[in-house]
Amino acid sequence: MRGSILRRCEDVGLAKGQVILTFDDGPAGEGKTETLLDLLARHRIRAGFCVVGREVERRPDLCRRIHAEGHLLVNHSFDHVSPLSLTEAELTADIERCDAAIGRAIGNVEYRSRWFRPPGGIVNLGVERVLTRTARNLYPITFFAWDVFPIPGNCWRIGSAIRDNLRRNRAGMYILHEWIYPISATPTAPGNCPWLIPVVEEIIATVRREGAEFVAPDQILAKDFGH
Ligand SMILES: [Zn+2]
Repeated sequence: MRGSILRRCEDVGLAKGQVILTFDDGPAGEGKTETLLDLLARHRIRAGFCVVGREVERRPDLCRRIHAEGHLLVNHSFDHVSPLSLTEAELTADIERCDAAIGRAIGNVEYRSRWFRPPGGIVNLGVERVLTRTARNLYPITFFAWDVFPIPGNCWRIGSAIRDNLRRNRAGMYILHEWIYPISATPTAPGNCPWLIPVVEEIIATVRREGAEFVAPDQILAKDFGH
């Protein structure tokens, strides 16, 4: 589907039984990222962490730990500003600023992201052009469980929505938020997601029960899928 990061499992190159978990908008404070990393380590799962550069600067130790534990760091912009409100030059600078923050955190000043997930999952012509020009790949999803809309009770049903999707497609690349950045034209503060850890536990149980497996977070086709 053009215009967003949503793709079909076959376009992403996920085979039956393959699942990838991705976490956006961190690294998060209040112990959330640590709890999430502990949980993933206990289950030997590697995930994609789509980090916001501004949060990486606040918590470089967490970014370093994500990297050290074998997870994939994905550039999710520095300021989490909507691509719709940026020029291509501004978007490019924002991506590079996030890369620089990641590079400082992990002790590799040469660091350059291979993957980019645009804020709000918005893929407009500007995003497409910048990715092509800078030889980066879009980091997609295959299903969105609406975990950014905390209607009372809704977010606690993310696990069952993902279970139903996995049963239907027998594969999936899923997105959850460590916490939630509103999509705006200016930098804003993120909101909390208290359901995250129970939902991840539920998804892990579902994947095991369905006979699926978590695969490497970069085990997908490296191109701008489906275009
Ligand atoms: Zn985001």
